[in-house]
Amino acid sequence: MTPILPAKPYRGRLAPSPTGYLHAGHGRTFWIAGQRAAEAGGALIMRMDDLDRDRVRPEYEVAALEDLRWLGLSWTEGSDIGGDLGPYRQSERLAVYREAFERLRTGGWVYPCVCSRKDIASSLAAPHAGDEEPIYPGTCRRIWERSEPLSLEGRRHVWRFKIPASTRVDFVDLAQGPQSFQAEVDFGDFVVWRHDGLPAYQLACVVDDALMQITEVVRGADLLASTARQILLYQALHWQVPAFYHCPLMTDASGVRLAKRNDALSLRTLRSRGVSPQKLIAEWAQANDSH
Ligand code: GLU
Repeated sequence: MTPILPAKPYRGRLAPSPTGYLHAGHGRTFWIAGQRAAEAGGALIMRMDDLDRDRVRPEYEVAALEDLRWLGLSWTEGSDIGGDLGPYRQSERLAVYREAFERLRTGGWVYPCVCSRKDIASSLAAPHAGDEEPIYPGTCRRIWERSEPLSLEGRRHVWRFKIPASTRVDFVDLAQGPQSFQAEVDFGDFVVWRHDGLPAYQLACVVDDALMQITEVVRGADLLASTARQILLYQALHWQVPAFYHCPLMTDASGVRLAKRNDALSLRTLRSRGVSPQKLIAEWAQANDSH
């Protein structure tokens, strides 16, 4: 008989990017994350995704913490209160990302790519639309696989994850149900290390969720295709894949997805207009029950 292993204690996380004020959509996702951690009697970790040097501002970090506390959220470890598995700010974790990247490199999972966005756009057969990065056509992968790889001396380059041919990623999302993503159709060789010497979101996120021992990742449904890529990274790094719960995205009255650029529905603005957190939460709870 297979022994029944004790379930790992639940560890969830809140991972705001301090690149703008949080809007009601973020608020709802974080509130759901808080609910799920509370229902499981687990821990909740506050992690700051602050690697976007051009857009991150310290006041947004302060505002995010304040807005989430205003909503009634609290966390057990995090960028402002510390904890055993910190630091909890991505900008302070470069050494652990580097280490994971070196493991990928020695494992033959990554290759350098000197293509510019323009090169990639002009070599694509079909125009690229939407938020997703275009599927990389593999130009540098083919060069790298030849016996004499190109010299990187003085050349601006990124490192891409080499997806084995015909890879398919299937997983069951706890909110959205079964998901299936096909490499070369839904995504291509993606960037794990940026040209500015920092890890790309996909790698930093996997390293943090794994090392902070997150058992369930709650985030917006816009990241479902990222999850497929991240699962490949977990596998390459021999780390256990957490459970995923992708919350439906929130739209405004005209059906347009909320974005940080649209300040009208920022939690700050709602608060300054006298909206109470109880009222917001009551609306979210209702919307959550009805799907
Ligand atoms: N920091 C990301 C955001 O605010 C979320 C990343 C994640 O949850 O994995 O959109």
